[in-house]
Formats: sequence, structure tokens, C-alpha cells
Amino acid sequence: MTHILHRQIHTTLPVASGGRGIELFDADGRAYIDASGGAAVSCLGHGHADVLAAMHRQADTLAYAHTSFFTSEAAEALADRLVADAPAGISHTYFVSGGSEAVEAALKMARQYFVEIGEPQRHNIIARRQSYHGNTLGALATGGNEWRRTQFRPLLIDTHHIDPCFAYHYQQAGETDEDYARRAAQALEDKILELGPETVMAFVAETVVGATAGAVPPVADYLRRIRDICDRHGVLLILDEVMCGMGRTGTLHACEQEGIAPDLMTIAKGLGGGYQPIGAVLLSQTIFNAFASGSGLFQHGHTYICHPMACAAALAVQEVIARDGLLDNVKAMGAHLTRRLGERFDNHANVGDIRGRGLFMGVELVEDRSTRLPFDPKRKLHARIKKEAMARGLLVYPMGGTIDGIKGDHVLLAPPFICDVAAIDAIVERLGDAIDAAL
Ligand code: PLP
Repeated sequence: MTHILHRQIHTTLPVASGGRGIELFDADGRAYIDASGGAAVSCLGHGHADVLAAMHRQADTLAYAHTSFFTSEAAEALADRLVADAPAGISHTYFVSGGSEAVEAALKMARQYFVEIGEPQRHNIIARRQSYHGNTLGALATGGNEWRRTQFRPLLIDTHHIDPCFAYHYQQAGETDEDYARRAAQALEDKILELGPETVMAFVAETVVGATAGAVPPVADYLRRIRDICDRHGVLLILDEVMCGMGRTGTLHACEQEGIAPDLMTIAKGLGGGYQPIGAVLLSQTIFNAFASGSGLFQHGHTYICHPMACAAALAVQEVIARDGLLDNVKAMGAHLTRRLGERFDNHANVGDIRGRGLFMGVELVEDRSTRLPFDPKRKLHARIKKEAMARGLLVYPMGGTIDGIKGDHVLLAPPFICDVAAIDAIVERLGDAIDAAL
């Protein structure tokens, strides 16, 4: 009997009792390779001694001080580090407690920016159908996952959605990547023109789509075209790197590989690696200047912004990643994971697509490879894969359901940056067995 309202009321969960390195343990003594870091969170694995030591030091010194009275060394140091490593034009950071809060704050920053610069008519948000930006009301309104939105629609602000850049499902036969990038990006310009450019506030997109689609990178040039369109119409570009950012794709920020910089960027999960709840918005000098020379404040704030414990843990996580050269390991192990997934699944009758970047990979399951016909959602294949994987000591993040006509089951892999070849091989072997058992 539990008094927690869990995600699934009728499922009995094992009790997590410990974690070391790439493994989690339950109270019955079972060990699991954490191949998804929960939901792409635990980038350093579990129980990292250097992070724990930093957390102890911070707890001994200062656990909490309200930001209306004080700043803290931990928050200042983390902000300095993030801005030094940020894409061009980013000058400040705003710390919150997670991804949804970061998206909410970014939306409000975008809105306040236009009020500050005398364009208060800009309020429209454009985002994409196959996307997830969080579960709070503003973030939920922005995301395009209908299953999550349906019953809450009366509470959601009006947002506008265009097709995502998702080659496996949307690129037409015979269409080159270049043509597809142009067509997919044109959908944004068409929507801006339809709404009236002077009313559009921001375009929000995940650089690499995570939870709703399973690690879908954009085709080359799509985001550069998006950046151009936003600039031409004075629309802010908000990149949501809550899941795909902070090294997961092999560069600190996924947008580095696209050669563009956003006006606002949200980060979370891998920022603190699960050691503490933390997220952040990175904002451009232009936006900061508008606030600084205008009202002199950002009209927002929660009790736990800039939490010293969370900032100290995140700082330690980021220092370890840099000190140990873990982004190079993400690239090397990502290449190995891609190769091994290919060897295991390229000829598999029910694997339609293997995609992703770095240690952020998606495997899409289909009933028929030639037609890309998905499995009947009633089979709940994704849930069965999760169960079979757990039975084999493997944690993966499978998703399924119906999203704007695309019915699909996929498995998301986001193993820790400390993985070695043996760990990757074990992940692929167990996943292959789990998928075969679930089919
Ligand atoms: N944005 C993206 C891209 C996400 O993947 C998520 C969570 O999965 C969120 C926002 C919301 O983050 P949180 O669950 O920390 O609120």
C-alpha cells in the first residue's frame, strides 16, 4: 500500500535502493544497466564520488538562501561556466528546478522582451507537432504531443504547430535532404506570414527531438534556415535542449553541430545529472539588455531559483565532464553504439529506423518495414519492451502512442557518458533480446 500518487496507479514499482556507475539496484538485489539515464538525466551515472563530495561541501556551507536577499558562490560559478561555454551571443543564465520550469521562464522572457522593446502585439508561439516541452501549462501548450494535451486543452494558451523535421516519416520519396530541409523550414515562414509577422513572438523547437519521437536529429541545414527565417521576421528562436543538451549528442550543446545560436535556450536533465533537480534558461545579451535598460527586472521567480545545493551539484557534474574528457567518450561510444545497433537491427524485420547523435539514439519499431506501418497501439509494444528489458537487467525509455497520425513505438537510449565498449555491447545485446521477446 502506497500513499504516493504514482504515474501508474495499478503498477507496483520495484524500490530503487542504490546506484553505482552505470548501474541501479533494487531492494530485491537486482542490478540494471541504466541505458537511458531515467529520461536522459543521469549523464555521469550514479554515485560519482566527486559530485557527492561537492554536494557534501555545499551542504556543510550553505544549503539555501532566498534570491531576493542573496546570491551564492555556487550559482555565480555555475553561471560563469555556462556562459563561457555557451553559443555566441548568450550572456546570462536563469536557474530553475527543471525542464518545464525552464520552458515556462523562456516563454515569459520572450514575451517580456517584446513588451520592453515596444512590440507588445507579439504574443504568438509557434512550435512543432512532434515535440515535448514539459507538462506545466505553458510548456504543455507549446508541445505537440496530443496524448498529453487532450484533456487539458481548455486550460492551454493558444499556440500554433507546424510539422516537425522528421525525415523517416515526412521526407518524400525522391526528395533530397536539401529540398526537404527547405520545405520543412518553409512551413515556419508560411505560418509566420499567416499569423502576421508582427504578432509572432517565438519559435520553439528541440534541436534533436527526444521523448515524443526518439532521438530525431534535423536534416542538414534545416535549423540554419529556421534561424534565417526567425531573423527576417524578428521572431525569437528558443531551442529546447532540456533532453538533447549538455553533452548528450557529443558537443556541449546540440545546436553547435547545426552551426547556429538561439536567442534563448533551455537546459536541464544533464545539467545536474540527476544529483539535484536543476534547469536553466540561457539568454542572449540582446534580451538581457532590453530588460536592463527597460524595467530592470524579469517579472518571474520561484522560491528555489539558483538553489545553492543544485548549482553546486551541477557545477561538479560539469567539471567532471570537462576534466575527464567525457564529450570525446560520448562521440566514441556513440559511434560504437550506432555500429552495434546497426549490426543487431539493420536486418531486423520490425526495426524501421535507427537514428540519433552521440549517446542519444532511437530505435523505431514497425510492423512492416517497406510501408513503415506501425504496430497497433493496443499492443502497447513499447510497454512490453520496457518490461522485458527490466527482466534482463536493462533500463531503456520506450515510448509509443499516436502523435498526429504517426502511430509508433520507439526505444530511446541515453546511456551515461562514462560507458565503455563492454557496457554498450551488453546494452545492445539485452535490448535485442528484449525486443524479440516483446514482439
Ligand atoms: N523539454 C524537453 C525537450 C524534455 O524532454 C522535457 C522532459 O522530458 C522537458 C522539457 C520537461 O522537463 P521536466 O520533466 O524536467 O520538467
